[in-house]
Amino acid sequence: MTYAYRRTYRGPIQAVIFDWAGTTMDFGCVAPAVVFIEVFKREGVPIDMAEARGPMGAAKRAHIAQIAAMPSVRERWFKVHGSTPTEADVDRMYAAFIPLQLDCLSQYSDLIPGALETVNTLKGRGIKIGSSSGYNTEMMAVNIRDTARRGFTVDLTVCASDVPHGRPNPDMCLLNVMKLGITTVEACVKVDDTLTGIEEGLNAGMWSIGVAISGNEVGLSHAEWLALQAPDQARARARAYARMQQCGAHYVVDSIADLMPCIDDITARLARGERP
Ligand SMILES: [Mg+2]
Repeated sequence: MTYAYRRTYRGPIQAVIFDWAGTTMDFGCVAPAVVFIEVFKREGVPIDMAEARGPMGAAKRAHIAQIAAMPSVRERWFKVHGSTPTEADVDRMYAAFIPLQLDCLSQYSDLIPGALETVNTLKGRGIKIGSSSGYNTEMMAVNIRDTARRGFTVDLTVCASDVPHGRPNPDMCLLNVMKLGITTVEACVKVDDTLTGIEEGLNAGMWSIGVAISGNEVGLSHAEWLALQAPDQARARARAYARMQQCGAHYVVDSIADLMPCIDDITARLARGERP
């Protein structure tokens, strides 16, 4: 008989790569959503919250282009402008988006409950903290400054503007691997509040965890979420979990506060020779 032997990684988790808005800060991922709404309103084509949130996780210019490409939005745009949205229209809206977003980011920079404790626990275990974001470098500089004031720091931040391709491509995760000196992608965990961010982790060959309640899938601020009646909370939670599981997430949890049991489970699975 002839046998082939398969090489397996049985070491520890080397890095956890976090998304920012909706995952570590800005409960509900509100900051970008309100600005997308404002930008389309200024073009005379108001969009609703569901349309604004649909492409969340993508780089911001790509996000605007994806909203503009929605059949419902194209139809309304045509009625107002007499043509469908062009690349020049998207460029103009992105140019308007940048200063509006920079202006309001600091209003939404509160940490998500549990973010600080979770990241500090991971650091205490010798795990590197990477991050990726659909914000550009200038926007992330504001978030990094604001969250550092709250004691929150990561080892590395990669922005959509730092790589050739935004989510769901794996570029940002893989640049984290390179710059953090990680030896293999299966030793990495990606945590995100959007479907495209879960795909980013999967496309990079990593363990991918969805945070269902604190981010774009429910789309409510912390106060709004707490004010929701229990049956409404249960409905919103079930919908978000189903969508994230359907997308291929290895685990789905409510928020970053619930992450550590997943980390322990992945640690045990790696030790058994499992891969993502
Ligand atoms: Mg996010």
